[in-house]
Amino acid sequence: MEKTGQKPFQDLLFPLHWHYYLFLGWFRFLPREDGVTMDVNQMILYKGGCHCGAVRFEVSITPSQHAIEDCNCSICRKKGFLHLIVPPEQFNLVTGQDKLTTYTFNTGTAKHTFCQVCGMHPFYYPRSHPGWIDVNVRCLDGDVLSNFEIHPFDGVNWEENVDALRAKDESKAQS
Ligand SMILES: [Zn+2]
Repeated sequence: MEKTGQKPFQDLLFPLHWHYYLFLGWFRFLPREDGVTMDVNQMILYKGGCHCGAVRFEVSITPSQHAIEDCNCSICRKKGFLHLIVPPEQFNLVTGQDKLTTYTFNTGTAKHTFCQVCGMHPFYYPRSHPGWIDVNVRCLDGDVLSNFEIHPFDGVNWEENVDALRAKDESKAQS
């Protein structure tokens, strides 16, 4: 939903944190100033993209998926990537498939996609979760980072920690 310049009706009534919308499930969609919306299933929709705007995506997540990972591995620490890892049905690439290019290293399994125009890494295809999408929370629109709880992930010792991460993400996707 695009910003119209008008203050949404429900923001006038309830100028509160998004948690409050948990009580208002009978609204089909609840647009907010920051572009965050929630649907009847309590899935919260975020929009995001790269810096130049060529790559745009939407991701729809559960309340518990607001717990995300900050990884210390060789590539994530340099990118500053904050990991929101979702199954494909929760992610929609709106535009920019043709503007993405891919970097690989080590096993070559993870496909580190990035915008070839502006160089941002809005999402990629992780080795840890085959078929899933790893969204960079830093590339979501608006000032939404404070909606998320950031947990450290020890990607330096990836083999020892990846099974726990997979189990955690599968449970978060369902609650
Ligand atoms: Zn770009």
